[in-house]
Amino acid sequence: MAQHEYDYDLFVIGAGSGGVRASRMAAGLGVKTAVAEYSDLGGTCVNLGCVPKKLLVYASHFSEDLEQAAGFGWDIGQSQFNWQNLITAKNKEIKRLNDIYKNLLDNAGVDLINGKAILVDKHNIRVNDKIYSAKRILIAPGGWPSVPDIKGSEHIITSNQIFHLDQLPQNIIIVGGGYIAVEFAGIFNGLGRNVTQLYRGDMFLRGFDDDIRQFLANEIVKKGIDLKFNSNIAAIEKTVDGYIATLEGDSKINTDMIVYATGRHPRTADLGLENAGVKLAKGGAIIVDDNFKTNIDNIYALGDVIDRVALTPVAIGEAMILVHNIYADRNDKMDYSDIPTAVFSQPEIGTVGLSEAQARKKYGEVDIYKSEFRPMKHTLSGSDERSLMKLIIDKATDKVVGVHMIGAYAGEMMQGIGIAIKAGATKADFDNTIGIHPTSAEEFVTMRIPE
Ligand code: NDP
Repeated sequence: MAQHEYDYDLFVIGAGSGGVRASRMAAGLGVKTAVAEYSDLGGTCVNLGCVPKKLLVYASHFSEDLEQAAGFGWDIGQSQFNWQNLITAKNKEIKRLNDIYKNLLDNAGVDLINGKAILVDKHNIRVNDKIYSAKRILIAPGGWPSVPDIKGSEHIITSNQIFHLDQLPQNIIIVGGGYIAVEFAGIFNGLGRNVTQLYRGDMFLRGFDDDIRQFLANEIVKKGIDLKFNSNIAAIEKTVDGYIATLEGDSKINTDMIVYATGRHPRTADLGLENAGVKLAKGGAIIVDDNFKTNIDNIYALGDVIDRVALTPVAIGEAMILVHNIYADRNDKMDYSDIPTAVFSQPEIGTVGLSEAQARKKYGEVDIYKSEFRPMKHTLSGSDERSLMKLIIDKATDKVVGVHMIGAYAGEMMQGIGIAIKAGATKADFDNTIGIHPTSAEEFVTMRIPE
């Protein structure tokens, strides 16, 4: 088949983390590549997720920092927070990142096509009434917040809208108990708002280590979040100046804003997937094999749309494997084990490997090392925030199979620990490592007595 029978060798749908990485790498290997995007470059992470969220987390931390400064001799005086100034600064930074993404694509020789891409058939894609043909197609349109269908659900906002609010109201309900809910509960609380967090089950952050879940619950309640478990909204009613949320069980809460962070679904609607015969799983995710190939032999998918692990670095990893395997004659497999992650709650969570419950199930006998303490900073800060660190060891092999932390910089720490875990570190390796003093991190190499 002659190479230029098609307009493109690779046509990527979606310029988010996965799509941009795949396009750039493919073009760098000499593959004629286009990427179609109808919104801002960089996808959820850059525009409506990781990046602006972390900026908001930084912003919200200042309230504590300013308060705690007195303990270190500072007299700060009166301070004020201005939401609009923060959003303006954030928008400027996101615009800068969008431009960087544009330059990266241009410099790699990728054609950027602005518009919504719809598959016409397995080799043709329509964007703005123009048809492009491609030998291979990669579908990477990401995910979108999902909200349950309750009475008054039109009054709900999601993380997508938060980043562009004109004002941040005083009373906020946030529904959900996953990453996004705990992160925004912390952000709003840090910015001085009255936050009620509702989670439908007994304990939020399902899948995380139980000690970490309980510890975070205690810490955020101490910080003033009204955390209600076994609570869910049955209906929402608009009033003159706000909303009334009627909970299941009939109690009511008056509020100014209701945010739902109840998960995200793969964004497969309106892509014309049916025109090409691409198969979806029950929940709407595109089904792919180990090589990210769909049931159609020239169509691939990766990132949030395949609903494996909805994290930016995972989509980037998948993109690199896909491009190497197709265009650089490699046969790599994505390794989804021991992915370190952070939840930017306040305090922060960092974790890699198995929870205690998962480790007990998999290995039987495990040793647990735990350290719970007041971080050094808080001996003077006046804060009663505490940290928790936990190691889970497979007794038979001495391998460290789970590491969990809640406390300042847990995310930063977990990246390095993640390397150790990936390299198969044992508890003896941790013990043989000299601590860095005085840090919280040194606790990870000085815990000697199991529970
Ligand atoms: P999650 O899937 O993490 O959490 C969804 C939460 O909503 C769960 O607590 C779930 O409860 C609850 N829920 C689901 N449906 C309903 C419902 N109908 N009514 C009430 N509650 C409901 O989703 P998020 O939206 O928090 O985040 C999406 C993904 O984005 C994450 O899984 C993560 O992969 C990624 N992300 C990563 C971040 C990071 O790395 N720091 C930050 C933000 C997002 P239950 O547990 O009972 O099912």
